[in-house]
Amino acid sequence: MTEVPQERKLVTAVPGPRSQELMARKSAAVADGVGVTLPVFVTRAGGGIIEDVDGNRLIDFGSGIAVTSVGNSAEAVVRRAAAQLAEFTHTCFMVTPYEGYVEVAERLAELTPGDHPKKSALFNSGAEAVENAVKIARAHTKRPAVVVFDHGYHGRTNLTMALTAKNMPYKEGFGPFAPEVYRVPLAYGYRWLTGPEHAAEEAAAQAIDMINKQIGAEHVAAIVIEPIAGEGGFIEPAKGFLPRIAQFAKNNGIVFVADEIQTGFCRTGQWFASEHEGLVPDLITTAKGIAGGLPLAAVTGRAEIMDAAHAGGLGGTYGGNPVACAAALGAIETMKELDLNARARRIGEVMLPRLRAMQEKFPVIGEVRGRGAMIAVELVEPGTKQPDPAVTAAVAKACHAAGLVVLTCGTYGNVLRFLPPLVIGEDLLNEGLDIIEDAFAGV
Ligand SMILES: *Cc1c(COP(=O)(O)O)cnc(C)c1O
Repeated sequence: MTEVPQERKLVTAVPGPRSQELMARKSAAVADGVGVTLPVFVTRAGGGIIEDVDGNRLIDFGSGIAVTSVGNSAEAVVRRAAAQLAEFTHTCFMVTPYEGYVEVAERLAELTPGDHPKKSALFNSGAEAVENAVKIARAHTKRPAVVVFDHGYHGRTNLTMALTAKNMPYKEGFGPFAPEVYRVPLAYGYRWLTGPEHAAEEAAAQAIDMINKQIGAEHVAAIVIEPIAGEGGFIEPAKGFLPRIAQFAKNNGIVFVADEIQTGFCRTGQWFASEHEGLVPDLITTAKGIAGGLPLAAVTGRAEIMDAAHAGGLGGTYGGNPVACAAALGAIETMKELDLNARARRIGEVMLPRLRAMQEKFPVIGEVRGRGAMIAVELVEPGTKQPDPAVTAAVAKACHAAGLVVLTCGTYGNVLRFLPPLVIGEDLLNEGLDIIEDAFAGV
């Protein structure tokens, strides 16, 4: 295992000449549809640092989109995955099973909210998990419809594109989409027209009214929602919204699915973001942070719902690959040993006050929000709530040039989001915030 020095270091412009050469090869060989946020090519990464082919070391506030919460080369992940790799790479769990898969399912049953009997099924990607949650909910309820929310993101397969709210870039030109998907309002406090204090009650009432009028609750198999909308802009639904929706689902025999693919595994300072409002979802989808960077995803939930699909109805060639399962067990071990929930909360305690101080100085910052290590800044034209995606892109670009990896998101493309690895050192965290402050001062 290589130890990456935990310090930012720029020895060339970003991207440097070797990255630019590789980018030219990428352009020739890789489909243009596969975009790149920051065109530096990585040689190694760990802790809070990404090192590139030119020898630059960048501070990582992205974690490969909320994946490497334990770092990109966590000791327990590397050790367990390497040991598994040396034993066997694959048998297909559906053909001849192995213990690691079962152990991951056992951990998921322990860690997810609620003490009812739970079961899991493992897959390769978040989108695949969401698709399977819908399959399971339909098998259980024998109903067709799926309800999703404004600003929601659930993946890039055909069904999950249908579930995703935003057209560009996720859906444009890729339809037609799967039927029986209905979208209802989300309690987006900052943009709720009658004010944030009314958002939870009014948005829930509107959503429920639309479900009753447009679909009929008795035709709804599942309500699928992110406890904090990730790609949509790190939108925490106004407090009280999620419990109202969950209660409506319960009253009507609808499977309540929390998509915790981005929010799960310590990211928000709890094992799962559902816990912040005491929610006990019927099904939870997980991926991203689950396995320290290896591809793994899961649907976990009430045993009687999970068992509704007939034997052979769920699965896939690689789902719950043994190396990915070993990595997940290493990641979970790391989260427990280092108490990464506490680390995530500490990251929030460091970042939020500093970003709020920036908000005082820079009127382009409309709102600072987030929980734990899932923090965002929404940028607007000063004095209005008019989204400013151009300034957002400019700030991100300035951060990249200074050696800080940041990502943008949001329905209006005007949100800077920060998802540092939970193991990042506090000095790097503060240095990253200095870079963000300089970037705001410069635009
Ligand atoms: C990333 C994401 C997905 C899709 O996961 P993939 O592994 O990219 O398929 C689904 N839901 C949410 C909330 C996500 O953040």
